[in-house]
Formats: sequence, structure tokens, C-alpha cells
Amino acid sequence: MMMRPIDRVTGLLSDLRMTPVDFEALFAGKNSLTPVESVELFLLEQQRLRVQKQNLLRRRRASLPAEKTMDSFDFGFQRSVSKEQMLRLSDMTWVEQAYNVCLLGPPGVGKTHLALSLAVKGLNLGYAVAFETLDTLMKILKTSEISRASKRRLRYLSKAALVIVDEVGFMPLSPAEANLFFSFVSSMAERTSMIITSNKGFDEWAEFLGDATITTAILDRLIHHCEIINMTGDSYRLKHRKSIT
Ligand code: ADP
Ligand code: MG
Repeated sequence: MMMRPIDRVTGLLSDLRMTPVDFEALFAGKNSLTPVESVELFLLEQQRLRVQKQNLLRRRRASLPAEKTMDSFDFGFQRSVSKEQMLRLSDMTWVEQAYNVCLLGPPGVGKTHLALSLAVKGLNLGYAVAFETLDTLMKILKTSEISRASKRRLRYLSKAALVIVDEVGFMPLSPAEANLFFSFVSSMAERTSMIITSNKGFDEWAEFLGDATITTAILDRLIHHCEIINMTGDSYRLKHRKSIT
């Protein structure tokens, strides 16, 4: 059976790991192009599609539970953090210096919202970003030897520019878990930026970590280069609760 040119080209694109393109649309109205200009147009399209694919992949790997923005944050309601401070952090230059950001405060004050807004900024600037709760991070760390998925995720976390660890302090950790968390924070320090959110002030961390020495060791690594944002106030959730009536 005779193969049509388009089928041969589609096969070649696949062999060369390039993306299928709509040639009719790409070359519409471009009859006067020289051969080299035609090749250039095709290669530029391949480049654009590759960047697009990588961006999508990076967003998926970040595994953000939601895409929040600074614009949708009501700084009038949350007075303990200023818009200027968050806008300054939004340039993400601190990621280059492997600085950390710690957002501390009671439930509902917007810690996760701000962490996610910074994560989105990072993604838009092309950084590899990864989001985990402490709970899911623990599962990954505990199973990295026996689960390929966990091992792969851990490798991704270690290569990311920014790792968000959300909800630190909700659950008490066992001594083994506290050690795993310490090793993780150590391995990130000086290399990868972290955003930590916690409903507990640093003075309360020893309670859920269960050990004063390991707490000091963790905080020592974490806050060496760190912007600490103490948030107070009422829960936005409770204030803006929608009732079913
Ligand atoms: P926390 O992580 O501190 O418990 P969240 O960031 O999850 O709180 O906030 C709870 C909910 O309220 C989220 O849906 C978040 O988008 C919203 N929220 C919290 N604070 C604000 C705010 N100041 N402006 C707009 N939305 C907010
Ligand atoms: Mg939260």
C-alpha cells in the first residue's frame, strides 16, 4: 500500500520525538518562503510546542492542590502580612539564593493560599516546584526504598528549586519520622528553597517533633536563611462560611 507523504512525515516526527503539527495551518499564506525559511518556521513551531509541553509537565509534577493567586488574596482581611511584603517575595529572587519562607499561624488565616500563590509565581518563571503536605512527604520518605513512585517523587523533590511543605505540626511525629524530616530538611538546606506552613509557632515545634535536640537541628537548618511570616487573625473560612439555606 502506498503511503501518503503526510503519513511518512508523521512517522518521521514520531521517530525524531517531535510533535505532530498542522502543516496546512502552519504554512497558510506562506507560499513565498525560501526552503530555509520554511524549515525555520517548522523548527520554531517544534520549539514552541516543546516548551509548552515542558510547562504543562512541570505544572503537573508540582501537584499543587489548587492554583491560588496574590490578586485573589484579601490583604484587608489579613492584616498581619502586608501586600508589599508578598509582592517583594513574588519576584522569587530568594529561590536563586535558596532562601526559605515560613508561614506560621492558626488555621484559616491564608498560609496555604499564600504558599500556593508563590508556587504559581515560581512555575510561571520556569522553576521546578513541588508541593507536599508533611503527611504525604512522610509517606514518600518512609516508602522511598520500596516504592518506585516514592523514589521517583523524592528524586524530583531533591532536584526542584522550590519545595512547599504544607501543614507542618498538625500531627505529632514519631522519633523515626522526626529523624526523617530532619534528614530531608538537611538535604534541602543551602540548595533548595522551601516554603513551610505551620499552625504551630516555632516555640511549639518540640511538642509535635517530640524531641528538643532534633527540633533545634531542624529549625537551625530551616531558619538560617529564612523569611518568617507570622500570621494572626480570624479564620477566613469561618468568616466567609457559606451556609446552605
Ligand atoms: P490556612 O492554610 O492558613 O489554614 P488557607 O490558605 O487554606 O488557610 O485559607 C482557607 C481558605 O480561605 C482558602 O480557600 C483561601 O483561599 C481562603 N483565604 C484565606 N485567607 C484569605 C484572604 N485573606 N483573602 C482571600 N481568601 C483567603
Ligand atoms: Mg493550610
